[in-house]
Amino acid sequence: MHAINYEAPSTVEQAIGLLKSHGEKARPLCGGTDLIIQLRAGVRRPEYIIDVKNIKEMRQISFDAKNGLRLGAAVSCIEIFESEVMRRNYPGLTEAAHLIGSLQIQNRASVGGNLCNGSPAADSTPALIAVGARARLVGPNGEREVSVENFVVSPGRTVIEPGELLVELLVPAPAAHTADAYLRLIPRNEMDIAIVGVGSSLTLDGDKVTAARIGLGAVAATPLLAAKAAESLIGKKLDDSAIDTAARLASDQAAPIDDMRGTIEYRQHVTGVLTRRTLLIAAERARKK
Ligand SMILES: Cc1cc2nc3c(=O)[nH]c(=O)nc-3n(C[C@H](O)[C@H](O)[C@H](O)COP(=O)(O)OP(=O)(O)OC[C@H]3O[C@@H](n4cnc5c(N)ncnc54)[C@H](O)[C@@H]3O)c2cc1C
Repeated sequence: MHAINYEAPSTVEQAIGLLKSHGEKARPLCGGTDLIIQLRAGVRRPEYIIDVKNIKEMRQISFDAKNGLRLGAAVSCIEIFESEVMRRNYPGLTEAAHLIGSLQIQNRASVGGNLCNGSPAADSTPALIAVGARARLVGPNGEREVSVENFVVSPGRTVIEPGELLVELLVPAPAAHTADAYLRLIPRNEMDIAIVGVGSSLTLDGDKVTAARIGLGAVAATPLLAAKAAESLIGKKLDDSAIDTAARLASDQAAPIDDMRGTIEYRQHVTGVLTRRTLLIAAERARKK
């Protein structure tokens, strides 16, 4: 590995200043579980690493029932799993964070890094899409918000402009009788990349669905919002026929590749299966709220 300068700013302003002054030569680091591997493989060759784990604002989980969640980009996956606030309000997003790698990886890895890495198969991204998360980016020209479904533009590429930092993820507070769920299929029991990942969120009024969002991972060049599938549920009783329709629409939207992990047909089929299962889990959770 080549020589690298390491900086660990303690404020967002300092981090932006460093990213601005070093330009393309700098790269932010949250947990490093993707970045360090990319450095070793020579895929990325930054001269400066800007470690953002010392920035307090980026390490916070804060929630209130009116404004929702502010999840710092550098909060580790294990901190998410151990947070009562996260488990209670966003169980699907919490289970997605807790599926990433092993416990050792989760101690370092963040949901922010998972999103910024731009992988179509990132586990937490479909779960973020399902809960309607927006990414708050801060850069030398100010700040902006981007919905997570529009964040990744192609494999490994995101909307982040040079000098910009993902500071936090903003998630609406769940309405009454709202819950989410995330499931993925991997070829082994753990430590593998998803063949398909699906996150679903539902709001129920009695048996009727009043709001729904479905996020799909590993079935296209970028994580997807399955808008038609989710919209097909609105106003309907959540019975077998409604779930079948949503699962078929999600499966139709999947445009996966054929590789050693699975064929196109298999991935499309699994998309429908996981859509069905996540909807059922989310509904069961929503009824208890
Ligand atoms: C053994 C192993 C198992 C894994 N298993 C899984 C798995 O099951 N599921 C899964 O989805 N992933 C998995 N991964 C990949 C990785 O752990 C995750 O993507 C993780 O969430 C990345 O987070 P991080 O904080 O370590 O990111 P980092 O490595 O720090 O950063 C990732 C990328 O995002 C950029 N970046 C980081 N933070 C910011 C920011 N705040 N603003 C702008 N850019 C930023 C970095 O420059 C880098 O390009 C695994 C990795 C390993 C090594």
